[in-house]
Amino acid sequence: MTDRIAARVDQLDPSGIRQFFDVAAAHDDVISLGVGEPDFAPPAAARTAVIESVERGDTDYTSNRGMKGLRSELASFVGRYGLAPSPDSILVTTGASEAIDLAMRTLVDPEDTVAIPHPSYVSYGPAVTLAGGTVCPVRTKPERDFRLTVDALSDAGAESADVLLLCYPNNPTGATMPESALQPIATFAREHDLVVISDEIYAELTYDHDHVSIASFDGMADRTVVVSGFSKAFAMTGFRLGYAIGPAAIIDAMTRVHQYTMLSAPTQAQFAAKAALDSCLNDVDEMIASYERRRDLVRTRLDEIGLDCADLGGAFYAFPTVPDGWSATKFAERLLDEYGVAVVPGTAFGDTYDDHVRLSYATDEESLQTAFDRIEAFLADHRANGDR
Ligand code: PMP
Repeated sequence: MTDRIAARVDQLDPSGIRQFFDVAAAHDDVISLGVGEPDFAPPAAARTAVIESVERGDTDYTSNRGMKGLRSELASFVGRYGLAPSPDSILVTTGASEAIDLAMRTLVDPEDTVAIPHPSYVSYGPAVTLAGGTVCPVRTKPERDFRLTVDALSDAGAESADVLLLCYPNNPTGATMPESALQPIATFAREHDLVVISDEIYAELTYDHDHVSIASFDGMADRTVVVSGFSKAFAMTGFRLGYAIGPAAIIDAMTRVHQYTMLSAPTQAQFAAKAALDSCLNDVDEMIASYERRRDLVRTRLDEIGLDCADLGGAFYAFPTVPDGWSATKFAERLLDEYGVAVVPGTAFGDTYDDHVRLSYATDEESLQTAFDRIEAFLADHRANGDR
């Protein structure tokens, strides 16, 4: 067999999340706080829209940019985050994942640098690599609740980057950026002429303050591509539907790449997304209320069992510090082996986070309580034995 694999691809590591979950899947009675996938069913109207559109025979390609009706609704939906795009500056994509990939391929030339706050969602680094660029990691810290600061950007040398990628609410930390924290980042981007890719897929899932998009600030819509989608708040992961909003020239260029690669986003998923925006916002509110209760539960249990953890402002993740002397990988492996709880070692999200693990609370409250009982017993066990 040939061993020909392009160097760009050969250098990609397998995802640290998937790698760990293949192991978890082989164990019985495991409670998974691992993958970031909502445990809710997609809203009923979205499911019905798929079936009805198939039965009507509406199964053709859509326009490359996506159905006009869907783009119009998206244009008004994102008004809640301070955005006022024209439907023509929206591109409907195959998940937010495609939007991230297209944005990278469109904005990054070989040798260009993309500043990415770390810890970071696992796809960003590979998307930069595949576009031929280089990542400039910007380390964020638990003592600042993993919020991005201008100091962190300066320390990392991000002023000489070409693109700044933001993800708030954040995967894997649950950090959010209130307007007062985000404004200085926008100023930095303008001063140093950075184009921003802002992944706002968790925008609906904030619990302490409303989400605001960096693209809504003065002068930012002209230099920002907002990425979002239906996988999280709408619980529609398998529909594979996302979108990008940005300056017309960038969206036009992204559409060119999209038309030669994807052609158009899945038609049935577009019908579902339109139905979800038309009539499912109440379902979304109910799911958000449930995530907020789980967030409170996780906060209480982390404090009770003495695992240090930054503020949990949004998304459905916590990124606590493991007890002194443990490595994240050892902690995650032994917790899984001995007590049947799967979490993801922090190293999956950046080399320097070997003292953190990510827990996802996209799971029901009863399972969360049991998982925390087990974590508590695991910690007590190891404290008693004096091991780590
Ligand atoms: N961005 C972030 C921050 C995510 O957590 C995820 C999903 N885990 C995605 C993008 C990808 O979303 P989609 O299913 O829309 O491709």
